[in-house]
Amino acid sequence: MKTDLAALELGELEEFVQSLGHKKFVAKQIYQWIWKRGVTSFADMTNLSRELRAALGAMAVVTLPEVVQHDVSEDGTEKFVLRLADGRRIESVFIPDTPKQTFCVSTQVGCAMGCAFCLTGKMGLIRHLTAGEIAAQVRLLAKSTGHLDKPFNIVLMGMGEPLQNYDATMKALRMLNEKDGFDIHPKRVTLSTVGLVPMMDKLAQEELMPNLAVSLHASTEETRRAIVPPTRKYSMQAVLDACKRFPVSKRRRIMFEYVMLAGVNDSDADARKLVKVLDGIKAKVNLLPLNAAPGIPFERPSDERINRFGKILADKGLMVSVRKSRGGDIQAACGQLIVEGQSVKQSPAQRLARQL
Ligand code: SAH
Ligand code: SF4
Repeated sequence: MKTDLAALELGELEEFVQSLGHKKFVAKQIYQWIWKRGVTSFADMTNLSRELRAALGAMAVVTLPEVVQHDVSEDGTEKFVLRLADGRRIESVFIPDTPKQTFCVSTQVGCAMGCAFCLTGKMGLIRHLTAGEIAAQVRLLAKSTGHLDKPFNIVLMGMGEPLQNYDATMKALRMLNEKDGFDIHPKRVTLSTVGLVPMMDKLAQEELMPNLAVSLHASTEETRRAIVPPTRKYSMQAVLDACKRFPVSKRRRIMFEYVMLAGVNDSDADARKLVKVLDGIKAKVNLLPLNAAPGIPFERPSDERINRFGKILADKGLMVSVRKSRGGDIQAACGQLIVEGQSVKQSPAQRLARQL
């Protein structure tokens, strides 16, 4: 088995080149080729000795997931369906906007959490992604969209629950933060979680701490339990308490995502309760009008209802935005990331999540 150098942190790559009898600094050169230049062939790493290139060719590879489908939406959003080494498929999305460019990446194949309105949740968890597979999506998007040397933001809002794949997610963030690679400041990364409380507390201790987004979706325990199954284990109040403990620097806020479901969580009373439950938290609210899909038993509220809900929050002094649905015509919008034809059988992990 050849070693995949694109799956290694710089420290690991240094150990690898030293084990081949080379100096540590060579690892930096290789890291730069892989991450700054998007190179996958050792022959192209022209500042390495001929001898080292030959040795690497015999012992190592630099993998990049294969793009099996690439769709470009009318609004410029690009969806990439990627095939991993074991044949599993995931999706990554490029969302162009001015002035910000955003890469939306996946952390798992499927998701165990089973939120009632989310297509990825319907797949169940098939497997965790490795750190290399998480970071590779960024490398592929940067290369494909011409951003190897331009700034972009990353949102961990693709398929999967990042805090259920904690170690791989953190390792991927370290790989992306590396000075000899993309050098992405954690401020430019947003991690979205359904609210796994112990892992939120763990994240609060991290040195490389991304911005936090929390999928709240309700203003009462009862409603949240009905649509976000992990609430059975971690109550909404416990999630909010973890948010209160989370260290947010002066200029930052926690983003609360709130998917809007007609007749379920979109009334004026819901909006007023939401203001109350967020009291005391440095919050901003992002309203996500439901992206409807076959098999999702909810409807999207009218624009009027959404605006009225948002206005109640804003009038009470909350920062609020309504997410534009991007890439809807190519099934690249939030919660639409499912790869058709992939097994939808329940995995043991999903059964476990259902018992939460
Ligand atoms: N698992 C994480 C991150 C991935 S989902 C989480 O749930 O936070 C990213 C966001 O898309 C979440 O807020 C999720 O609730 C939302 N989402 C899922 N399905 C959706 C749908 N059908 N319409 C709109 N937003 C949806
Ligand atoms: Fe998983 Fe997030 Fe979808 Fe819920 S909304 S099923 S946590 S991906």
